[in-house]
Amino acid sequence: MTAATQSRQDDAGAEDAIRARVAARQDELVALTQDLVRIPTVNPPGDAYVPCAELIGNRLKQRGFTIAYVRGEGAPGDSDRYPRVNVIARFEGKRPGPTVHFNSHIDVVEPGQGWTVDPFAGVVRDGRVYGRGTCDMKGGLAASIIAAEALIDSGLDLPGAIEISGTVDEESGGFGGVAYLAERGWFSKPRVDHVIIPEPLNVDRVCIGHRGVWWAEIETRGRIAHGSMPFLGDSAIRHMGAVLERFERDLYPALRRKVTAMPVVPEGAQESTLNINSVHGGQAEAKGGGLPSPVVADSCRMIIDRRFLIEEDIDTVKREVRDVLDGVARDRSGFSYELRDLFQVIPSMTDREAPVAQAAARAIRKVLRREPQFICSPGSYDQKHIDRIGKLRDCIAYGPGILDLAHQPDEYVEIDAMVRSAEVMALAARELLLGR
Ligand SMILES: [Zn+2]
Repeated sequence: MTAATQSRQDDAGAEDAIRARVAARQDELVALTQDLVRIPTVNPPGDAYVPCAELIGNRLKQRGFTIAYVRGEGAPGDSDRYPRVNVIARFEGKRPGPTVHFNSHIDVVEPGQGWTVDPFAGVVRDGRVYGRGTCDMKGGLAASIIAAEALIDSGLDLPGAIEISGTVDEESGGFGGVAYLAERGWFSKPRVDHVIIPEPLNVDRVCIGHRGVWWAEIETRGRIAHGSMPFLGDSAIRHMGAVLERFERDLYPALRRKVTAMPVVPEGAQESTLNINSVHGGQAEAKGGGLPSPVVADSCRMIIDRRFLIEEDIDTVKREVRDVLDGVARDRSGFSYELRDLFQVIPSMTDREAPVAQAAARAIRKVLRREPQFICSPGSYDQKHIDRIGKLRDCIAYGPGILDLAHQPDEYVEIDAMVRSAEVMALAARELLLGR
């Protein structure tokens, strides 16, 4: 037997032992997911971040991690009532080497209507854990914790370090979370080399990036008058109706013609998309049953959510909308508008040959005996901040759960998918640390 064959066999044996350690912790993995789900970290407003961060910090401290709590002071939404507290845990290996970082957001969106189970009870049924945030992404967070613990307990002589972070506000842009930390060097070399974000993208898929985002508010203006004599005023809502008509006629067909080469899933998101997030015109709704007073609306505001492709540039994306508005202005008397930028994210994509992408792909082949799929996400997630602020390109999203279930009623994560993904994370981290 050659030395190379021997070492390959040793590696295979070590990998089997790590996988067995992960699989043996299935009940612990489920319990940890339940514990996390039972802390209702709903954002907005950013509830219960401190107990959730402390749950993670206290657990990992007992296992030899060094814990840091970093509050995103002054970030949007940060207050003494709702402090934006992040936790970062670091386990040092026995000698210098690279750092593998698992980053999960701890915030969840509001439960909304339509649940058949308590969204914060962590109900286990039919091989699944149900609850808000199970899929997006406390199941993935729990899987990464179990993966790291199993890897550490395997007694391998690991170089480098393993980090696990629980960060806030991903659902509202990540400014008090990963962006805040990235600005302070927590997501840059030499501190961190490889990042895995366990967002719910299915156990056999490696997500290498996401589309871009542009949020904007369009306001049309009118002139207030008595509702019985609308001809004396000028309705901002009717002006907005003209904008919507033009969107349907010109903009939507144009967007459908733009198709990306990025491997975005689902396939519909390989086109440029535009969601009309909200339209508000005229008086505020009369809550409590009172009648409104009869007036012509002098203002109407629409929020648009435009998702764009890596082949598009943000200036063109904005100009298209402005062209539509200018077109309406030319054709329609009394029409005036304002366009305000709210938020933008440039598309991000890691090379599929990047070390972390390849390590995850190899681990998926070993654990699932399936060829992994490289994909991009239709929506953005915290990779944008790690790429743009941290300047760290070696970043993927990989985790259990079905993306389509995120933010839905009766959200769940499959227990088997959590276990398999934890095995994949452990093997990928081992390879990245040992360099083989
Ligand atoms: Zn998420």
